[in-house]
Amino acid sequence: MTQNQPIVILPENYQRMVGKDAQRNNILAAKLVAETVRTTLGPKGMDKMIVDSLGDITVTNDGVTILEEMQIEHPTAKMIVEVAKTQENLVGDGTTTAVILAGELLKNAERLLDQEIHPTVITKGYRIAAEKAQGFLQDMAEKLTKKDVQFLINIAETAMTGKGAESARGKLSKIIVEAVEKVSEGDKIELSNIKVEKKAGGGIEDSELIDGVILDKERVHSGMPKQMKHVKVALLDSAIEIKDTETDAKIQITDPMQLQSFVDQEEKMIKNMCDKIIKSGATAVFCQKGIDDLAQHFLAKANIYSVRRVKKSDMEQLSKATGAKIVTKVSELTKDDLGHAGVVEEVKIADDEMTYLRECKNPKAVTILIRGGTSHVIDEVERAVKDALGDLAAALNEGKIVAGAGATEIELAKKIRDFATSLSGREQLAVLSFADAIEVVPRTLAENAGLDPIDMMTELKAAHDKGKKWAGLDVFTGKVVDAWALGIMEPLKIKTQAIKSASEVAELILRIDDVIAGGSGKEREPMGRMPPGMPPGMM
Ligand code: ADP
Ligand code: MG
Repeated sequence: MTQNQPIVILPENYQRMVGKDAQRNNILAAKLVAETVRTTLGPKGMDKMIVDSLGDITVTNDGVTILEEMQIEHPTAKMIVEVAKTQENLVGDGTTTAVILAGELLKNAERLLDQEIHPTVITKGYRIAAEKAQGFLQDMAEKLTKKDVQFLINIAETAMTGKGAESARGKLSKIIVEAVEKVSEGDKIELSNIKVEKKAGGGIEDSELIDGVILDKERVHSGMPKQMKHVKVALLDSAIEIKDTETDAKIQITDPMQLQSFVDQEEKMIKNMCDKIIKSGATAVFCQKGIDDLAQHFLAKANIYSVRRVKKSDMEQLSKATGAKIVTKVSELTKDDLGHAGVVEEVKIADDEMTYLRECKNPKAVTILIRGGTSHVIDEVERAVKDALGDLAAALNEGKIVAGAGATEIELAKKIRDFATSLSGREQLAVLSFADAIEVVPRTLAENAGLDPIDMMTELKAAHDKGKKWAGLDVFTGKVVDAWALGIMEPLKIKTQAIKSASEVAELILRIDDVIAGGSGKEREPMGRMPPGMPPGMM
């Protein structure tokens, strides 16, 4: 009798996709994501304009920014977005490359699936190819040290080519390389030592490098000095004011003297705090919280340059640059907590006052100030500058670089194809598909520059067959050139990381043959194992 009874193991309105349907759907989603950013690749890539639900506009060419702003929902598509984020976090550049590589690997896998090749064979072939690729890349890379200043500039310029920073690319590259040189120790650099600050107004060429910190803040009181030398800096992360009590309390006052003494008491406490600061010997105070009006008056009288509501990240930068300790209790401030800056001054930029700290105790913390006509322009320039900084850090930390313009990809594909001949049958097909996928980079560079991709690829491959390892595509002239000689250089890490994450996510997606999605939101039935009282959205 129970034979015909259905067994329910999933909630009512779940969705399920099995086998080929699941595979195809996943591959399609991944390809769509890749397709979206594809047209932005390279110096001739186009920009995208993204308008969010509040109407805020972002105009960008940066892969990871586009994908983050798009608010993608499909679960597989999200996995591709993660590839871009990983690339952004680990290298800082090459996000578009990583995404279109993942898309192409899956597209080629689909062709193999059509030929009835099993997904496990494909993933195995991809894994072998990806491993080999790492070795080939290491072998073909060139060495780099901090002394190769021209190469460093080339790397920065390559990162910024075609990124809205065009007009001042030369100047920005110099600033970026100088910043990197200043903060580097040996051949290693720590990017958190370089702060990037931006201010709309002026032109990109007004951007500058400051030996120290800039705060987008003015001094709190006009009676304070505008410029000071040999400054002793105090950093406070609590307010210089009397805190409101957390609970409301009523005080019964019966005669005016009492009120006066109450006010006097408050004044006295504030005065004590300021005296403590004065006694420590500080001549400038940077406070993460507020500074009471009365305190401002006392500090101004003592000629102490004071700034309030400084961002936490800026406090840390200030501490690093000046050597000051961030103190929480004003009453515990002593002269040992103070740091040093050669100059502290208020400077008017565009229509705003900013505070500059120069000639700091530790010159290993610097600030790049980006200028530009409008906020959309400086945002995009900032992204380009950060790409360049990431590239320089990756290049110096690893000490290895390669040529761009598709040269590395063509050479790598060639090496992988040579290697594939040693394999047999179906695995070989998968490895060859991997090699084809890598060529998506030069092919897309050609397409985006309005060149004929077939002609360009044939010419490029011919040059590599003749042994020209760094033959790449000059997207501006449409000619095959020696990319290395032209100074089109990138850190090796862009390539190794892109291939690593792209092949990993492709393998992961290919191994999925069943997608089970619980019903959406409110209608979802609570699952059996959930403790009672849990909101249904918790799944
Ligand atoms: P990603 O987000 O992957 O960094 P980009 O839009 O920055 O994407 O484009 C990077 C690609 O552009 C790399 O393959 C790089 O080699 C190539 N490229 C950079 N400068 C040039 C150039 N002057 N000529 C040809 N290709 C270039
Ligand atoms: Mg880039």
